[in-house]
Amino acid sequence: MPSSQNPISIQGVSLASIAEEFGTPVYVYDGEKITTQIHTLQEAFSKVPLRIKYATKALTNVSILKLIKHAGAEVDAVSVEEVRLCMEAGFKAEDVMYTPNGVSMEEIKEVVELGAMINLDNIPMLDLFGQLYGNSVPVCIRINPHIMAGGNAKISVGHITSKFGISIHQLDRILEVVDKNNMLITGLHLHTGSDILDAEVFLKGANVLFEAAMKFPDLRFLDFGGGFKVAYKEGDVVTDIMKVGDRVSDAFLEFCKAYGRELELWLEPGKFVVSESGYLIVQANVVKETPQITFIGVNSGLNHLIRPMMYDAYHGVYNLSNPEAEKRKYNVVGYICETDTIAAERDISEVRMGDYLVIKNAGAYGISMASNYNSRLRPAEVLVWDGKANLIRKREKFKDLLHNQVILDI
Ligand SMILES: *Cc1c(COP(=O)(O)O)cnc(C)c1O
Repeated sequence: MPSSQNPISIQGVSLASIAEEFGTPVYVYDGEKITTQIHTLQEAFSKVPLRIKYATKALTNVSILKLIKHAGAEVDAVSVEEVRLCMEAGFKAEDVMYTPNGVSMEEIKEVVELGAMINLDNIPMLDLFGQLYGNSVPVCIRINPHIMAGGNAKISVGHITSKFGISIHQLDRILEVVDKNNMLITGLHLHTGSDILDAEVFLKGANVLFEAAMKFPDLRFLDFGGGFKVAYKEGDVVTDIMKVGDRVSDAFLEFCKAYGRELELWLEPGKFVVSESGYLIVQANVVKETPQITFIGVNSGLNHLIRPMMYDAYHGVYNLSNPEAEKRKYNVVGYICETDTIAAERDISEVRMGDYLVIKNAGAYGISMASNYNSRLRPAEVLVWDGKANLIRKREKFKDLLHNQVILDI
């Protein structure tokens, strides 16, 4: 469905009926879209031995993780808690890639005991790890190739001042540490951040890894991270995944020849897999005319979807209750007591109080970044699967806000 269209229904289930049945605000996911995205990646990289390690931080609901497993992907986790959620979903620990940043050796040890693949991104921990485990536990190294993927400064992590990865300029130091501790390095990794637009950027990063890889004789895989861009609005430039897959696969196969062995190619897409599958349905509490702007105040806000305020992200907003009406210009705002703009100066079919609105591209970094700010409750989540709407997370209740509070007798 073109991104400019009002998504009245998914898999034949109307979004308005989901809002009626489960209440609002509610996150709704289209399971078929998730499966399609994974299959698209598999097709784009069909020439190479591919493993898709879905970046769980984008959307961590265990039912979604199970669906992702069902579709043939594995997972990337950035915390021990995410590793555990993946195991709840039925993933074997060895199919989980653990890519933390700035965590303690205690946490890393915990994940080693669980059995996930460890990916380290700083020299002190690499050295400590080597002293502890020698060559008894294989490890992957996250390299910072200092390639700037396009887009937003907050989500671009390859630049020279980024905290992520070990600088490619420190490769000699890495090799010293690996040698000294007799370590078993089975993977090299990079993730340059979100918003990879084209094959050229991707290949630049890949070439840095290829060159470094020649120094590591025991490799099993190269991991190129995530960051594939999807359309948020009409006319957005998106990653041409077929072209990227084709070009990168060719370069990879050529590298494998030079390396002398066929390695696996790993990817860690988050946004690409789940962004477009997700919809946040909210209700218009009030339509407020001011001399300049007409505001629609909805029963949600940056506590449920922080991307517009945090990243200036564009999310399409459509009126589910009055789709055929004439369009008017609105600012859609959340109910949080902060500047809380979800969408500015949008043409939306005339909105009346009580109408259901749908916010698109809400699958990635939506509920996984949600909070209880302003003591608001987090929404329910619904997965449409096999043409049926299934509740996969209950709406929070007031008692959840008190759950861990220790109330003193004052
Ligand atoms: C966040 C993250 C990803 C996924 O990024 P997307 O832009 O959602 O594709 C992949 N790998 C690592 C290590 C990450 O931290």
